[in-house]
Parts: sequence; structure tokens; C-alpha cells
Amino acid sequence: MEKSRRNFLIGTSIVAGSAAVGGYHETLGKAITMQRRGEKAKDSIYGNAPLTEIIQKEGKIAFSNDYVVKPSVCNGCTTFCSVRVKIDAKSGEVVRVFGNPYSLLSSDPWLPYKTPLIESFKATSGFKESGLEMRSTACSRGNLVYEKLKDPFRVTTPLKRVGKRGEDKWASISIEQLIKEISEGGNLFGEGEVQGLKALADTKTLIDAQNPDYGPIANKLCVLGTADEGRQNYMVHRFVQSFGTVNFMGHTSICGLSMRAGEAAYLDDFATSPHMKPDFEHCEFLLSIGTAPAQAGNPFKRQAKLLAKSRTGGALRYVIVTPILTNSDSIAVGERSRWLPIKPSGDLALVMGMIRVIIDEERYLKAYLAIPSDVAQKTLNEVSFTNASHLVIMDGAKKGEILVDDAKAAYVIDKADGLLKNAANVLEADILYEGDVSLEGVKYTVKSSFVLLKEAAFEHSLDFYAKESGVDEKTILELAREFTSYGRSVGVDCHGGTMHSTGFYTTYAIMMLGALVGNLNHKGGMSVGGGKFKDFNGSCYNLLAYAGKQKPFGVRIDRARMAYEKTSEYKRKVEQGQNPYPAKDAWFPFSPAIESEVINSSANAYPYKLGALISWNANFVYGQSGSEHLLPLLKDPAKAIPLFVAIDPFINETSRYADYIVPDSVLYETWGVLAPWAGHLTKTTHVRYPILKSPNATFANGEPISMDSFMIELGKALGLAGFGKNAINGTTAKFDFDKPEDFYLRAFENVAMDGATPAPEASDDEIALAGLGEYLPMLQRICTDNWRRVAYVMSRGGRFADKVSAYEGNKMSNAYKKPIAIYNQTLGTGFNSLSGESYSGVPRYYMPRFYTGAKIDMDSKEFNLLAFSYKSNVLSSYSASVEALRDTRYTTFVDLSTTTAKQYGIAHGDHVVVSSSEGKVQGICRIREGLHPRSIGIEHGGGRIGEGGLSVQIDGVKKEGRIARRSGININTLGLSDASRLNIATLSDFVVGSNARQAIPVRIEKL
Ligand code: SF4
Repeated sequence: MEKSRRNFLIGTSIVAGSAAVGGYHETLGKAITMQRRGEKAKDSIYGNAPLTEIIQKEGKIAFSNDYVVKPSVCNGCTTFCSVRVKIDAKSGEVVRVFGNPYSLLSSDPWLPYKTPLIESFKATSGFKESGLEMRSTACSRGNLVYEKLKDPFRVTTPLKRVGKRGEDKWASISIEQLIKEISEGGNLFGEGEVQGLKALADTKTLIDAQNPDYGPIANKLCVLGTADEGRQNYMVHRFVQSFGTVNFMGHTSICGLSMRAGEAAYLDDFATSPHMKPDFEHCEFLLSIGTAPAQAGNPFKRQAKLLAKSRTGGALRYVIVTPILTNSDSIAVGERSRWLPIKPSGDLALVMGMIRVIIDEERYLKAYLAIPSDVAQKTLNEVSFTNASHLVIMDGAKKGEILVDDAKAAYVIDKADGLLKNAANVLEADILYEGDVSLEGVKYTVKSSFVLLKEAAFEHSLDFYAKESGVDEKTILELAREFTSYGRSVGVDCHGGTMHSTGFYTTYAIMMLGALVGNLNHKGGMSVGGGKFKDFNGSCYNLLAYAGKQKPFGVRIDRARMAYEKTSEYKRKVEQGQNPYPAKDAWFPFSPAIESEVINSSANAYPYKLGALISWNANFVYGQSGSEHLLPLLKDPAKAIPLFVAIDPFINETSRYADYIVPDSVLYETWGVLAPWAGHLTKTTHVRYPILKSPNATFANGEPISMDSFMIELGKALGLAGFGKNAINGTTAKFDFDKPEDFYLRAFENVAMDGATPAPEASDDEIALAGLGEYLPMLQRICTDNWRRVAYVMSRGGRFADKVSAYEGNKMSNAYKKPIAIYNQTLGTGFNSLSGESYSGVPRYYMPRFYTGAKIDMDSKEFNLLAFSYKSNVLSSYSASVEALRDTRYTTFVDLSTTTAKQYGIAHGDHVVVSSSEGKVQGICRIREGLHPRSIGIEHGGGRIGEGGLSVQIDGVKKEGRIARRSGININTLGLSDASRLNIATLSDFVVGSNARQAIPVRIEKL
């Protein structure tokens, strides 16, 4: 047992004994001796709490010289909150982390941007108890995640594998040697020749002359990122697009792609996939499906705060639909919050049932749906509009297309006179039209988008939807009526729960509920976010453009963003008179990027085999359901990835298979510019700059090794454009690009100078208070005349519009402008590349299925329970190495309902085995009341072997892995493969390829 843990237990028994014999005061005094895990505390009242940074003296406040407080960005989860970091002035170590009161991700209300810095500290302090009103917080993870900075398993020097991939043996090498080896290639491991990156940086020679659409050799480099924590544009525009490859992908396919793509279908924007969120503050009714505000989700703290406020001070009522009872529900607010248990993957049937009821009982907002264009929207002073009345061609060569004129403007039937007209000339269109129309002498059989939605919803009875969802008919009926009883201040939300095989249509259907009540851009309804200040391409610089930047082209390794019907493979088959279906494997034209398709695609050499992979903090081996099936492909360099370079501050489950590891910066050592995903209604940009010294080895120019500095030096070594002399485009001049600050400080300057009124100038006092003194030489050199405005942005952790700018009357100020797609033409004219089946252009019920349509048996006798994953408010994939969080959550469990446990004779605390047809996990069973009886829940974040879980050997010295980090269960070990695909592919949503980790059929047995 670890010493501190033993001390904790000893401490517990002492206090228990004391409590029995002493009074409260005495017990308190002794209990406090337990502060710091059993070690005696310094103070009997305040324990080991550090002294405050604010000193109150005679009605005034002053700053302690012992500390400096600087703004930064947390990455304890993908919310990336703006926080303030208290640093010990002498040791330079982090003392504590709290919220940034200027940022809406940590405060609500947040401070007006012009608030003097000193006032911001007063506002959040105990001074006149102002901190009670103006609380600005970090969550439990955010408070502790800084432990990562000093973690003994952190990689601080470049590593090269010794022995085979995955043997966890490494040798440290210089960064110069690493760059030389990966650039030049050679017999790097005594296993044969490896092609270097120089040979792959070829944007002229085609990969495959037979398939010119695959693009140039440069596409044989794939770069994997993760969630954008403020540096993705740097990586993509300054390196990936300079190299010339099309293959960059973030982690969306193993996180929330089904949600992103479903919302993109609804907003008819697959290119940029805008993110939607309810306006929690003014919402009157919220339906949240497969996500749990106040427990998890993004923005985690903000939506928790707003939910709590709205259900007490506001008018909010809400229903949370999940297989497990979550912290979203609150007994304290009585009827205002409700949990509706559902079996995993039952959500699509539930929502299609609701749509059926709403249409059947005509509870939809007819006048809103009849608005056919932006012109009519403006005239009617409306918030948004849909294509409900647009006419879809039902047969002939244009089948599935919307009837439009040469300028792509839709035709509709005018409700006033029944005539076919251009939508811009109609105020109220017929949404129920079906029949024939004539246009320029051509007859078309058409149906309105709304009719197609109605038909899809009516394809099944309510009884059918009840059976498939596991929610009874009466409940579906009542929920549909309730949803349509609160006007337009109604929200819908979903996230990780839709990561199953039909998750894309599930999200599209959930969002469609919103269209039926007209909630997009409406106060209290749905928002696409408040936007951001211009950052990388702004009034001072275009940091994304430079001489010699490539325009990457060709088919992506994941076969995303491209329809199979556009490929040379398809055309060749058609020309040869063959049936073009099936293709060799699945294509995903509506998806932006699919990390979970990289390894199998390369191993299959379809569309081609990769030459090299650079992963940057990516971890699909832990995060991808069924990734175990891919390990043999990853372990053998000959199979899928001949050269694998990981940029990572830790050796994680994926980077342990790399050939080389380049250390990255961590948390507050890092640069970045980022905006919230959604959940904000006002313009918001956060900035992050190194406020701590990196412990990493350095380049010859003194710059610590990180992703940012590595890409510059690698780019120079490869002779790529966009690095070094004159590589940065200013509005009036060009500048050198040699260090990360050359890029990021200029992005900060763009942010500061955006708009008619730039950010104010920081005074000398504020510069001193924000601890910006050390940055002044760099600031003045790079930002010249604007440096004080940039300092103002840096001192506040970003630039933020004030809360008052959120609405214009009942409308959101930053409104979504395009029509909502009741029918999505891109989708409705697409095909499944293996079966040739047409995709439905409207939400429709599909059984849980494999890619080609074979049903996943959810009711088999052998695997008769359904496993699902959920997130808590404690763990995240970023928290493996945070030891202090283990005091709150030591491990994760197999959660089972009391009913099911009884049925199987399993007791609380029993050791159990959960098996799917392809995987197995062992764990401790936790019996809970709040769980759907058909389900088994497993919390995300446990069962880590990376980041210090496994032992590693570096330069011959063994670092013993910590058993506590391995504790718990990773549900992804149960993941299924899809036998209808080429060789090995993990199960995914059948339309967009999002990895399917929810609703895995399993059985449970007592060990
Ligand atoms: S929600 Fe918590 S862990 Fe996530 S970024 Fe914010 S403070 Fe950090």
C-alpha cells in the first residue's frame, strides 16, 4: 500500500475514535490533522491551504508578493475553460487554479471587458463578500489536472524505440538526430529500409496512375490530432498543408461525430459542421438525450451553472433521457426535472415516435415551417427558416434533388393561390404539397420536404416505436405533447449517447424536433454559438497563407468527404458495364474526418497504403471501440504504418506503438488561441501563452521542444514552404517564422485589433499585476505599435463580448443564416458504397445495423444486455495521471440495475466478467437503482495502461507502472468489428462512420 494511502486509513481510524468520545470542536481540530492525506496540517483551522494572493488592509486590497496569478486555459477536458493559475513567485510552481471572471466558460455573469484588472480580483475575492456573487470556478478536474505538469511519467526528451513496437523500451536521442532520421529514413531499426518524410513530401508524383483521384505521394503522410485545444490551425495550415497531404484528422470519429454530422445534416452544412446547443439560460423546456448537463458534456461548467440557475430562478423544466440516472436530475426542484430511462440505442425510435405524434396531432408550428426563404423570414421578422415547403423531385434523372432555378433558388407552392413560384416571392408556402408540377415545359413529380418527413415518421406505428425504444406508447405520446407545450423557448441536446450504429439519424431526428417548434436562433431555443474574434486571419496578418503553401488534393485515407460515385474506381466499373456496387470498402461522403478508419484502410491499401503517421496527442487505441482488433496491424510496421512518430507529453496507449516520441508542452506551458465549441451566445476568444517554464529538452535556439517548435524545425529540415525568412504574411510586410511566438503573438494581435473598436491598451499597472513583464521584449518586438492592446488581451486571458450583446429582442445576435434542412439533398442523393442503398434525406428509423444493412442482434439469448459508456463529472481521458483525483474516484465499475442483478444472482461488490462476442472485461459490480434493466453501464476514463499505467524502460532504466492508473474498466475492449466491411474494420455508424461504442450486446457472469 502506498505510504500516503496507509496514512489516510490510519487518520480515518483516529478520527472515528475521537468522534465517539469527544465533542464536535475537539473532533474538528483532530479531523483537520488529516488534511493532506494523513500528514499533520500546518494550521488547525486552515489546514495546509496556501495563503491568499489578495490581502485585505483597512478596507482596501493589495496583492501578496508571494504569488503571481496569470490567465491560461485548462485542458482537463475538451471544454478548455479559461482559468487563472496561482503560481508561487519563488518556486514557479502552481499552487492552485480557479476560474477567469472575464470568461463565460468560468463565470456567469462574466465581468464586462472594460473592468480594470484589480477590480476583477476584488470581484472574486472575499473582499466585502463579493466573491459569493461573482463566483468564478474551475471544476474538480480543472483544480487538480496541473499535477500532470510534474508527473514522473512525463516525456521530456525525444525517444526512439528499442526492440519491437509496443515492447515499451526506449532510448533517448537528441531532437536533431530524431529529425534527421525521420526525414531521411534508412534502416532505422535494423528491420529493413524505412522511407523518410523527405521522400514522401512529393506533391507532383501520383500515388497510383490508375487512380489519379488518389492524389500525390504526399497523401501517404497522415497526421492525427485530437480535440482542438487552440493549436490545430497551426498544425494544419503551417505544416500539414505545407507538406501537401489531405490527411489530417482530429478525434471526432471516436468522440461525437454522430452528433456533429447529424447537426450538420440538419443545418445543411457538412463542410463546416456547426455545433448547436440549447440556450440553457432562457430555455423553458429542455429535452436532453444521451447526454447529461451538470455531469458531463461541453461546455461542462457553463451548462451546469446555467442549468442550476434556470431550474431554480428561471422557468426551466427538463427531461433527461439516458440509460442511467445522472447528476442532471435534481430532487430539490421536484417536477421540474425528470429522468426517462431508455435502453441503449433506443433513442432513434423514441424520437421518431415523438415526431409521428407531433405531426399526427398537428402540434408543429405551421406558420414557421411555411416560411420558404430568407426574404420571407426578414419580411415576417422571423428568427430562422426551413426548407419544409421546398419540393423534392421523386423520379427521373433528378430524383432526390430539390426543384430549383438556374441560380439554385428553390421553387415552392404558394399557399395563397396554389401556384408554383420562386420561394423568394412567397410569404407562406404549402408544406403538405405532393403532386406534379410543370416547369419550363418539363413535368416533375414532387413532394415537399415536410411530406417526406411525415412519410418517414409514419412508416412505423407508435407501438413499434415503443417496442424498439423500450419506452411505452403513453410516455412517448405525453413527451411529444409536453415538448410542444412551451412555445419556442425549447431546447434539444444530445452528445456521446448517439455513438452507436444509427447515431447519425438519431441526432438528425433529435434536432428535427426543434424545427417543429421553430427554436433555431430563438431566445431560449437553439444556438450555433456566439462566434469569435478574428484570430489567424485578421486585420494585421493572414497567418494561414504564405508563399508556396500547397493545395492538397485527392482521396483521403479514411475515404471521408468524398462520394464513391465520384471515384475513378466507380467510373471504371460503369464504363466496363459492371455493377459499380459494392465498392471495395465503405466510403463516408458526409464526414469531415474519421480517425477510426486510418489503420485498417492503410493495412488494406484501400485507397492506398500510408508511408508515415504523425500522431499528436492522439489516442485511438484507448478511445476507439474495438481497437484491439487493430493492434496486430499497428504493431507490425510492414502491415499499416511503416514510420510512426508520436508527439506526446506522455507514452499513452497509442504512442507506445510509435517508433519515435517527440515531447509536447503541457497545459499552462503552451500557446493557443481558441473559442468555445458552443453554448455561448456572445463573441468569445481565449488565448493561452506559456506561463510556466517547460521542463522539456530544447532546440539549439533555446526553444523548448513542443509540437509547435518541432513543426518549425521539421518543416525547415524538409525544405517546406512557410518556415523561416519572410514566412509570415502581414498586411503591409512579411516577417520571419522561427519560433512559436512569431505566430501566436500575431494571432493575439489580430484578436486585439478586430472590429471597429480594438481592445483597450493595458496600463503599466495592469501589466505588472498580470505578470506580463517578462513578455514585454517579445511583445514590443512583434506587435510594435499594438503591443499594449495585445497585453490587454493577454492580461484577461482573451477577448470577450459583454453579456448584453447576446440577443436582439427575441433573436440571438449571432444567428444561423442558412435554411434548416427538413430534407437534406446531399444526404438524399447519396448511396451506401457497398450495398448501393439510397440514404434517406430525412430522419428515419433504422434498426441497429452493420454497414451493409445486416441487423445487429440486440435481443440474442447469449448476449442479452446492452453495454453503454457514460462520463462522470470527475474522470476524463485527460485525467489518467492526476493522482489526487483518485481520492475521489479510485476506480470504475460495472454498473448493473438491482432487478438485473437479482436475476443473475450478482451482489454489490462481486467480481464479474462482461463479454461481448468479440471482447471481455473484468471488474467489480456496482448495483444501482437508477439504471435501465437491459443495460450495463461503464464509466469512461478507467482501465488506462498508458500515461504511467504500464512499466516502461528508458535508457535501460525501468519505470514501474502504477497499478492505480490501470484500475477500472475500458468499455472499448468490448467493441465489435463489422464483418460486412473489408477485412478488419471496427463497428461504426452506417452513414458517417462514427465509432460505435454504445449499445454493445453483452452478457455478464460472476467470477
Ligand atoms: S470543465 Fe473542468 S476540466 Fe474541463 S476544461 Fe473546464 S475546468 Fe478544466
